[in-house]
Amino acid sequence: MADFQGKSVLVLGGSRGIGAAIVRRFAADGANVTFTYAGSKEAAHKLAAETGATAVMTDSADRDAVIGRVRGSGPLDVLVVNAGIAVFGDALEQDPDAIDRLFRINVQTPYHASVEAARQMPEGGRIIVIGSVNGDRMPVPGMASYALSKSALQGLARGLARDFGPRGITVNIVQPGPIDTDANPADGPMKDLLHSFMTIKRHGRPEEVAGMVAWLAGPEAGFVTGAMHTIDGGFGA
Ligand code: NDP
Repeated sequence: MADFQGKSVLVLGGSRGIGAAIVRRFAADGANVTFTYAGSKEAAHKLAAETGATAVMTDSADRDAVIGRVRGSGPLDVLVVNAGIAVFGDALEQDPDAIDRLFRINVQTPYHASVEAARQMPEGGRIIVIGSVNGDRMPVPGMASYALSKSALQGLARGLARDFGPRGITVNIVQPGPIDTDANPADGPMKDLLHSFMTIKRHGRPEEVAGMVAWLAGPEAGFVTGAMHTIDGGFGA
């Protein structure tokens, strides 16, 4: 377990699911954690009270609000961009505004937040974005916009790793497979289909993803950058 005592960590989208597990992990490891939420005020404040982290309302669909939040929270040792949404359904029928909102939350905000964080980030800083195994493999219809958004993050990591590497800042993507959260419950209707693609036939736990994030943020991962880290129970194998 890495020691994050005194480190400043911002988690974008930390009120529930994988983000909440990341908040709990960094707080337990001694970091000063701030996290954002949009809709889940009650869950956010409960998590803040439980962990000692600071909860702040910032909508990841609002680029300038997120940039302001990152700037105001700096200098950060670790930025984790977790907030992400999916829009399911027939591509021919989907509302283009809903798809553009997805791209703002899943692609544009990770980019702008990462760049803003790097302005003040010290040597050894860490930028970690939660992508998805769907950036590599999309075995079902109706999720092209989500797959596009998550594969776009691969370019973000490769490019920004080049930009910030000379300052000792690493940029990595964590690509989960099915993880048991409100967005993808382990007992949901997709369970059997999802497990049929996997070699380990269960949903992952948010804490398992948080463990990978903590390792990437820690001192052992200083040579790891511009890379995708898949944690998917063999979904993409
Ligand atoms: P959940 O829907 O369970 O939680 C999403 C979290 O992101 C919440 O804390 C939510 O906060 C926050 N969030 C969503 N939209 C916004 C927004 N506009 N502004 C600020 N915060 C926002 O999702 P998961 O925990 O399952 O997913 C987290 C990440 O992991 C996403 O990027 C997702 O794509 C990715 N992922 C998840 C997988 C899974 O199977 N669960 C698999 C692969 C990737 P609030 O409720 O306060 O709005």
